[in-house]
This record gives sequence, C-alpha cells and structure tokens, in this order.
Amino acid sequence: MSDATHDVIVIGGGPGGYAAALRGAGAGLDVAVVENNKVGGTCLHVGCIPAKELLEAASVYRTVAAAADFGITASVPGIDWSTVLGRKQRVIDQLTAGLSGLLGHRKVTVYSGSGTLSGPGTVEVSPAGGETPMAVTAPSVILATGSTPRTIGGFEVDGRVVVTSDELFFLDRLPTSAAVIGGGAIGCEFASMMGDLGVDVTVLEALPSILAGCDADVAKVVRRSFRKRGIAVHTGVTVHGHEPQAGGAGTVVSFGEGKQVEVDLVVVAVGRRPRTEGLGLDAAGVAVDSRGFIEVDARCRTTAPGVWAVGDVVDTPQLAHTAFAEGMLAISDICGEDPDPLDYHGTPWCIYSHPEVAFAGHTEQSAVDAGFEVVTSTHRFMGNGRAQILGETDGLVKVIAEKLSDGTGGRILGVHMAGPWVTEQLGQAYLAVNWEATAADIAGLIQPHPTMSELFGEAALSLTGRSLHG
Ligand code: NAD
Repeated sequence: MSDATHDVIVIGGGPGGYAAALRGAGAGLDVAVVENNKVGGTCLHVGCIPAKELLEAASVYRTVAAAADFGITASVPGIDWSTVLGRKQRVIDQLTAGLSGLLGHRKVTVYSGSGTLSGPGTVEVSPAGGETPMAVTAPSVILATGSTPRTIGGFEVDGRVVVTSDELFFLDRLPTSAAVIGGGAIGCEFASMMGDLGVDVTVLEALPSILAGCDADVAKVVRRSFRKRGIAVHTGVTVHGHEPQAGGAGTVVSFGEGKQVEVDLVVVAVGRRPRTEGLGLDAAGVAVDSRGFIEVDARCRTTAPGVWAVGDVVDTPQLAHTAFAEGMLAISDICGEDPDPLDYHGTPWCIYSHPEVAFAGHTEQSAVDAGFEVVTSTHRFMGNGRAQILGETDGLVKVIAEKLSDGTGGRILGVHMAGPWVTEQLGQAYLAVNWEATAADIAGLIQPHPTMSELFGEAALSLTGRSLHG
C-alpha cells in the first residue's frame, strides 16, 4: 500500500536530482525528492563549492603576498584556518538554504531518508533515525544518487593522516606537508590550493602526465606553474603504501622505484565511483555495467521501464553541469517532449587550479585521432595587456580548427585554455565549438579591449591567416 503518490520521485538531491525536481515542478509535475543527507549533494557540500571557496582563499593569499609589486603596502599574509573554514561553511549554508527555499517554493516534497526501488513505480523511504519506512509511488522514478571517492589499497582512509575530498574540507588544521595521490582535476585543485597556502605538496600521478584529459600544451602550463611554486610532481609512478610514524608524526609514502616522501597528510584523489548500494537495482531490473555505473540510453532511460538515471551514477562526465543537463533531459523525456540527446563531446570543462584550465571540444591529439586534418593557433597571456595589469601572465589559449585546402582554419573543433580567469572566459569558446563556428565567423566579431578574452579572438584571427599580434 502506498503512503503517498507523486508524478515523479527523484532519489538523490544533488545537482542531477534537484535540477530534475525543479524542472519537473516547473513543468507542472508533482515531484518528490528522497535525500538521506542535505539537498545539494557532493557539489554543494564536499565538492565544487567548498573546493572553489578554499581556492579563492588561496587566491587572496597570493594577491596579498604580491601587493608590494603594485606599490601597496600590506603586512605579510597569515592564515587563520578556522576563519577560512567558517567562511567556506557560510557559503555552503547560504546556498543550501537557497536551494531548500527554491524546492519548497516549487512545492517539491523532500523526504528525509534513503530510497530503495521496492516494486514497479514504488520507492521505499527509510528514515535515518530507524523510524518505520514508508512506501511512495510514482509512474516515473529518477535515480540521482551520485558518486563517492574511490580509494586504493594500502591507503586506508582514517580522516586524519589519509583523507579523500570528503574529509579534507573539515581538517581542523592545514598540514605542513601533503602527498596528493592522483593528478586529475581534484588532485590538481587541492595541490594548487595547499601549495599556495604554504603546504609542501607532492603530487603522485600514475599516468605520464597530470590532467591527462586536457590538451598537452595546457597540462604543461599547469605543471610548469606548479614547479615554479615548489609543488613537486612525479608522473608515471605507482604508489606502494605508507608507513605511519610513531607518535602521530605523519607518514612516509613509498612510490616509484624505491622513492619515499614524508608528509603530514595523504590526499587520495584517484577518481570517484558510482553510489548505487541499497538502491535495489537488481530486483528492479536496472542493469549496471562492469564498473558499477547504471546503464542508460541517450535519454537517460535505464533498462527498467519508468526508471531514469542521471549524474555521477551513469558513465558520462562526472560534472555538476552534466548532471543538471541530464536531470532536465530526463524530465523532458518523462513529459513526452521527444528531447534531443546531449552532446557530451562538447561538454565545457573547468578546473580551478592556479592557473585555471578550461576547455571544450577536441584536443589537438583527439582531433587528429578522430581523422581530422587540423591547424592550431596558440596565443599566450604574456602578450595580453589585461593579464599584465593583473600580474598573471602564465598561460595560453589554443584553438584547434579543421584545416582548409588553403591551409587556413575552418570549423573550430576545440578550444583549450590555461591561465587567469579562463573558467570565466570559456563561454564564447564553448558556443563557438557547439555552434560549429568557423575561425572566420569568430575573427569577424569585435572583442572588448582590454580583456583577456581578446586572446580567443586573436587565436581565431590568426587561423584566417592574418593575425594582428601573432
Ligand atoms: P580523475 O579521474 O579526473 O583523476 C584521477 C587521477 O588519479 C587520474 O589522473 C589517474 O591516472 C590517477 N590515479 C588513479 N589511480 C592512481 C594511483 N593508484 N596512483 C596514482 N595516480 C592514480 O578523478 P578526480 O580528480 O578524483 O575527480 C573525480 C571526478 O570528478 C572526475 O570525473 C573529475 O573530472 C570530476 N571533477 C571535476 C572537477 C572540475 O572539473 N573542476 C573538479 C573536481 C572533480
């Protein structure tokens, strides 16, 4: 027997889940969200938002440390870690309250507890306090339970010496030294933040390069900046384990061919795995792949009729904005709107390390691998007026275009950036890639001056064979 009935039940209140809920409510559906923690998910509580907040604290530290270059006298910066954490939590709390208010305003019912598929169109909600579970029914169910940090053998997470991103945001003090295992987006953001705040950081990455999914020229910019700032990076290394020192004095991490590094803290940032435990997938006929991701078609439909899955539980880019898009897509499908599938190839990527990284579309290598004959144009922030004014001249904008018969650039296949505020500059590049603009289309547009976005315009102009500064 059902205790309550809705049009749609969403299990999980993170970006995928709340986007679906808000979109569904906006479409006039009666939507319920089942959440066993706080609405907002990983992104808001232990992901994007706190990571960017701490990176901003690191940016303020850098600015104050460089104030004398601008003729501004300031005392040597110090760090009050509890204030740093307090500010981070205030931002999270404000956003959480805003989201809860928005869900309430749209009349989305939020059930506090864990949801399990317990029959066709039925979700059992088990409250955390052990109260009697209730059965909630709806013709459509969206699974949006997210992901959890992966861990590796030999590095048991204890929240003190070995942490993942889940624990790092709550450390009661900054370590003196840290080993970051994994040089992906999370590893590089944490390494950058801690390095700027004076922590002696060592990054240990198994692949030959950090930021392996990025264009090689862009990854090199970050690596060079890390080197200049004293952040050690070892690539192509295997980590073997660690030996805690007596009296809680940190630990010694073994890696590569007989190498060791002694640190206060080990941060494990080796990817995230889908969170599907307790969802009742098997009994409901929802198939998962060999890596545990829920299998979906191009409209996020699972193998069980009436059940969709979105966000980090499916094998698409593990990004909050992908989850938003998938949540909205699932609702559109539920509404019978015959939506176009998402184009994951054009996904915008933003990594908030210093320097920042942002890109959309093909890297030079992936374009060549896909069979394109390409021409590229790279312009560096060193020559850009606004970047010089900021004092942030490390980085570049690289545009990859299809090569025309006269050797100039045609359709823009990808844009890859590293440097100051590139996460905020990606917008026009993202549109260029996804609207399949040509270099000539972009070259004919006026870029505001002086801005750092002039670099994108310049790079496109160069591809037409007539650059101003290149
Ligand atoms: P990731 O997959 O991006 O990077 C993990 C890195 O760890 C890889 O480079 C991998 O080679 C390395 N690695 C794996 N096992 C290792 C081992 N035993 N020893 C050494 N290195 C090892 O994963 P992530 O950085 O943990 O991020 C998780 C997900 O969240 C990713 O999909 C990421 O894109 C996303 N994310 C994105 C952002 C952003 O875009 N700003 C920020 C955070 C997270």
